[in-house]
Amino acid sequence: QEELLRVENIKKYFPIKGGVFGNKTVQYVKAVDGISFTVNQGETFGIVGESGCGKSTAGRTIMRMLEPTEGTVYFQGQDITKLANDDMRKLRKDIQIVFQDPFASLNPRMRVYKIIEEPLINFGVTDQAERHRRVLEVADQVGISQAQLKRLPHEFSGGQRQRIGIARALISKPKLIIADEPVSALDVSIQSQVLNLMKDLQKEFGLTYIFISHDLSVVKHFCDRIGVMYLGKMVEISAKDDLYDDPKHPYAKALLSALPKAHPLQEKERIMLTGDVPSPSNPPSGCTFHPRCPSCMDACKTVEPILQPIGQNHIVSCHLYTAEEAKSR
Ligand code: SF4
Ligand code: MG
Repeated sequence: QEELLRVENIKKYFPIKGGVFGNKTVQYVKAVDGISFTVNQGETFGIVGESGCGKSTAGRTIMRMLEPTEGTVYFQGQDITKLANDDMRKLRKDIQIVFQDPFASLNPRMRVYKIIEEPLINFGVTDQAERHRRVLEVADQVGISQAQLKRLPHEFSGGQRQRIGIARALISKPKLIIADEPVSALDVSIQSQVLNLMKDLQKEFGLTYIFISHDLSVVKHFCDRIGVMYLGKMVEISAKDDLYDDPKHPYAKALLSALPKAHPLQEKERIMLTGDVPSPSNPPSGCTFHPRCPSCMDACKTVEPILQPIGQNHIVSCHLYTAEEAKSR
């Protein structure tokens, strides 16, 4: 398996308004607080967590829609955090993003043809015939007819809009697509149509996906490997089956226990978490999950756990496992 993307200790801190003390000290919202993972060529890497855990910010920071506060992102071996704006703009052809509502930021009076064509103009494709050929090609690939290209955004259903959002991402022939809750706004029956389309496109073009979602039942059927985020950090990263069959981190266990059981004989108690997610501007000491963790130990309140391997292709940051490992030595 060839590595396409390597994210090393990426942080994204947003300064808090009015958080300036004296002449320098500033308070920050630590939206993303040091995440690391790799994504292999052709796979789908899921990032899951509750809303506000930093997963969307992580997706945007990795592709430098937001500038990272710290950390490095290697894409095909190249450190893209060091690229000047011009070179980064060229690289955007290779890394595209699909949003939950692709039309939220688009001109409602722009015809779908133009919406799909626009990225090519931005990337400096001056040959109009070539642009035309590409628009028809990707429209066909996502199941939008030529007649539909003349229409306006409001004339489309949610599922069709997402097809158009995907066409717009696809038109520059990207290698990596970051999909941020791409089906969360759609009815369940439409969700699977869009997910199937994304799977087909992945096969046909060898695409790699980062799939961001709060919905563990969607992620289960779509991703190969998964990272679970809590308060700006990855707490567990694993192959999909290992995570769903045997989650290790107490937060991952709680999230997964809320899923409908695979079969009625499966005995899994729903684990209810108490307390709210703490503010990322003032995260708890030690393990940031400790105020809500049913397994919290003394050390958890002061010592921050780090991600450690626990099996093949499975890493977790939790003192339960470091303690176990220490005992077995
Ligand atoms: Fe719970 Fe401690 Fe593990 Fe954090 S380190 S998840 S508080 S057991
Ligand atoms: Mg989000």
